[in-house]
Amino acid sequence: MNQDRKTIIAGNWKMHLNVHQSSLLLHRLHENIRVHRDIEVVLAPSMLSLQPLSLELDHRKFKLASQDAYFKDEGGYTGEVSFAMLGEMVQYGIIGHSARRIYFGETLEMVRDKVQAAVRCGIAPIICVGETKQERDAGETKQVLHDQITTALQNLTSRDIEGIVVAYEPVWAISTFDGVIARPDDVEKSIAFIRMQIRELYGQKASERVRVLYGGSVNEHDVRGYLEIPGVDGALVGAASLNYHQFAAIVDAAYQLRLKA
Ligand code: PEP
Repeated sequence: MNQDRKTIIAGNWKMHLNVHQSSLLLHRLHENIRVHRDIEVVLAPSMLSLQPLSLELDHRKFKLASQDAYFKDEGGYTGEVSFAMLGEMVQYGIIGHSARRIYFGETLEMVRDKVQAAVRCGIAPIICVGETKQERDAGETKQVLHDQITTALQNLTSRDIEGIVVAYEPVWAISTFDGVIARPDDVEKSIAFIRMQIRELYGQKASERVRVLYGGSVNEHDVRGYLEIPGVDGALVGAASLNYHQFAAIVDAAYQLRLKA
């Protein structure tokens, strides 16, 4: 973990919890998580819960992220919500999550347009990248990461880049309850490759300033191992973020690591 940058622990609640349940979870998290100066705790509830939670939460303790949003600011895009509409509610926006790419056909270009929309609206993108099992088995991990990173970061300024967060989430390691998890040395290689791509596009300073998270079945037992990998600035947590004991323990592990460093 880099001491110059705040660690991010983000919880992706996916399509779980109605407004009442979200509010209850927020309350439990509030009771169990303290304010940590060097750690940003980011919650990504469903779109429906963003507004009520934005009014309820302790802004010193938590930040909010959308799980997705549309790249046009307004218009006849029935069913969509734009980053422009979320501007005052969220600080971060998850973009290009593998669920969006796989289930909703989100292309590299759509991810790029969403990144630009988020930046335009003052929302820091958390761009998810990562290879599927099939791509990994075919030895295509670097090519996939290269294509995802170079397209997502097109047409941004070096200054824009510094506020961006990238989450490396190998698709084969997401929500695996059967023990398939990413090995730290594989994660380290992919994250070094991601930073190298950013360096080639936007220079050394930008590549050092971008925060890179790891995501993929992170829990309270293995989070420390991932956070200790060079170049990792935090974690994007799915299933374990729905359990306040586990999520609070993950935040605490990140805090203990900062204290030790
Ligand atoms: C995710 O949905 O981004 C994720 C990493 O999920 P999980 O922690 O459940 O693998």
